[in-house]
Amino acid sequence: RSKSKGKDTFSFFSKDLQHAMHHRVEMEIKLRQAIENNSLAIYLQPKYDFNNKEITGAESLVRIVEENGNVIGPDEFIPLAEETGLIHQLGRQVLQKSCEFIARCNNEHQDVKVAVNVAAKQLANPGFADEVAEIIRSTGIEASSLELEVTESALMHDFEQTRDILIALTSLGITIALDDFGTGYSSLSYLRQFPLHVLKIDRSFVIDMDKEQQAHDIVTAIVHLALSLGLTIVAEGIETQSHFNSLKALGCHLGQGYFMCRPLAMNDFFIQFISNEEV
Ligand code: C2E
Ligand code: CA
Ligand code: CA
Ligand code: CA
Repeated sequence: RSKSKGKDTFSFFSKDLQHAMHHRVEMEIKLRQAIENNSLAIYLQPKYDFNNKEITGAESLVRIVEENGNVIGPDEFIPLAEETGLIHQLGRQVLQKSCEFIARCNNEHQDVKVAVNVAAKQLANPGFADEVAEIIRSTGIEASSLELEVTESALMHDFEQTRDILIALTSLGITIALDDFGTGYSSLSYLRQFPLHVLKIDRSFVIDMDKEQQAHDIVTAIVHLALSLGLTIVAEGIETQSHFNSLKALGCHLGQGYFMCRPLAMNDFFIQFISNEEV
């Protein structure tokens, strides 16, 4: 009896595994196709100034939109892109499209700052700064309109090389945001050793800050630290009026979250916030 149970269990896991592998292969095909067809979709989530509630810019968030309209989120394919090395092409395409969007806004006489997520592997590529410089040149935008969001783990790879790349990027005029702060193996000394301009408070702290004193205390400490280092503070994952009020009261500069606006397809963002034409 125990034998047959074991067999059932085995076949259950095996089907599961088969399913997972199938899913992975399908996803890789979709990802390769989207990259080859230059059809990755950029969604933009506005960042608001806590003081005047004006939009100062947006975060660029990649999606795959299938022909039937189904939207696949980045959590489904970014890890895969990193494993397969497709992240380099993906990242270049996201940067290219994000900078083209900035140029399109500039044509409407609107300045918008767009923050693009950069994966660890991209930062580990010694040619990355040149690649970014070339995209800025070819799209004709101001480097100061572009921000790059890097994670703590991306900074952990090769200290010297990563710092050199970040210095090269900032000397172009690009600003650098440290994303997901506090969720990785952060060493506070990093905050001084890398050229950083913005610190993003991770959504996981914001979610709990009104329920748990500890989460509130952590956010307070992060804000004080960032302020004393002269960094701009962006809070993400603001879902309620109460989150908004607490973060504003603490002195955060910018915020983003479903409470204000969900990420919008690039064209919808353009129509809603940029275009001067009546629609
Ligand atoms: P992230 O950089 O931390 O981006 C914030 C995520 O939180 C986004 O998820 C955004 O849609 C979501 N979000 C924003 N406001 C709220 C809110 O109020 N509540 C909740 N629950 N979520 C909110 P998304 O778009 O699914 O992206 C997930 C992650 O995928 C990003 O996390 C980022 O790490 C990665 N990613 C997205 N686009 C790119 C890209 O172009 N390149 C790379 N390397 N990674 C990307
Ligand atoms: Ca981000
Ligand atoms: Ca984040
Ligand atoms: Ca995150």
